[in-house]
Amino acid sequence: MEGAFDVIVVGLGAMGSATAYHLSKRRTKVLGLEAFIPGHDKGSSHGESRIIRQAYFEDPAYVPLVLRAYELWDELQNESNEENLTITGGLAIGSPQQGLITGCLKSARKYGLEHDLLDAREMRWRFPQFALADNEVAFYEKKAGYLRPEECIRQHLRCASKRGADLRFEEPVLSWTASQSGDGVNVTTEKQTYHARSLVISVGPWFAEFVPTVSMPVTVSRRVMFWLKPASQPSAFDRRIFPIFIWEPEQGPMFYGCPRTREDGDPKVGIHTGGEECTPSTIDRVINARDEMAIRSAIRSRIPALNGEVSRAATCMYTMTPDEHFIIDAHPEYPQVSLAAGFSGHGFKFSSVVGEILSDLAMMRETSSDIALFSGSRFRVQ
Ligand SMILES: Cc1cc2nc3c(=O)[nH]c(=O)nc-3n(C[C@H](O)[C@H](O)[C@H](O)COP(=O)(O)OP(=O)(O)OC[C@H]3O[C@@H](n4cnc5c(N)ncnc54)[C@H](O)[C@@H]3O)c2cc1C
Repeated sequence: MEGAFDVIVVGLGAMGSATAYHLSKRRTKVLGLEAFIPGHDKGSSHGESRIIRQAYFEDPAYVPLVLRAYELWDELQNESNEENLTITGGLAIGSPQQGLITGCLKSARKYGLEHDLLDAREMRWRFPQFALADNEVAFYEKKAGYLRPEECIRQHLRCASKRGADLRFEEPVLSWTASQSGDGVNVTTEKQTYHARSLVISVGPWFAEFVPTVSMPVTVSRRVMFWLKPASQPSAFDRRIFPIFIWEPEQGPMFYGCPRTREDGDPKVGIHTGGEECTPSTIDRVINARDEMAIRSAIRSRIPALNGEVSRAATCMYTMTPDEHFIIDAHPEYPQVSLAAGFSGHGFKFSSVVGEILSDLAMMRETSSDIALFSGSRFRVQ
């Protein structure tokens, strides 16, 4: 068994890379173990862009966390001297009675977040790329934008490693055990067994198979990202004038999009709701005609200039909880093991702050951040 560590982090994707970074800032002896190479495309954190926004329609409880996440992304950017976040402004579009708009307004009002509410006519001159129905409105927030996920992960890993974190790639964890006394864990890979005082499990869509004994209902769903060549006016999708958006139509699934992240790139769109259940080993990575039909029927009449040929498409996985809120909590039997899972397709923007929270839990078994909404015990039958 190799010399003891303070904390072992299993899975160095979005959440694990940020956790290793925050632990390394606290001068902790940290070991990070990852099954694949840094910033790989087999989990949930690839595809060039992830939306970040503040007026959180899902629940106002996320707002303080996302504000802290912005601060931490900025700190990371300064430390690594490389851009990770681009502000484009953001639109949430839908009927004023539906959850997207009412939820954004609720969060914005509770936390005094700057925003504009635009009707279909105002949208036509301010953002002519979008064709709203007469009964739809758009909630606009200036501070929304997108993160570069692969770059964020690499920055977290690079800065953690510079501070002495021991990060090992292409070394999947096969099993782990925790002592009943509440202190100490053993983690075994093909190469060896490691010992530490605490363990953080941040294995994304592999959660259900990695922690099968814990009764938390987490499922995985297949998602497809499409990069489309605009049918006309490609410059209208430039990040300087095309904001990130989420659209909740009265009929059909919620969908989202991001501008071109590079001069020679194309805008990206995807469907947020629905999706076929899968596992990381059964996911169908081949893009089919149904996938393309779904995205075309979402955008055809709503963003007509975007409905051009597919330049690229890729699959990815959401790890869902039944209420679509995260799980960030101690293992129900082992307080020295922290679990981060079920980010339900909206977790990336928080990964900087989730890393900070998980390093609190690993070091002190408590955090000053309010994570009551993410308790694992909410799923336990009383
Ligand atoms: C198409 C798509 C679009 C999205 N859009 C947004 C968005 O716009 N905004 C937003 O905030 N969020 C978005 N999300 C959600 C966000 O990307 C995820 O919530 C987040 O990336 C999850 O991070 P994670 O660390 O849990 O998982 P991952 O980043 O997948 O990390 C898990 C890691 O664990 C490793 N691992 C697994 N098993 C083992 C093992 N046995 N040993 C060692 N390592 C192991 C894996 O290799 C992987 O690297 C989107 C997700 C998808 C799929």
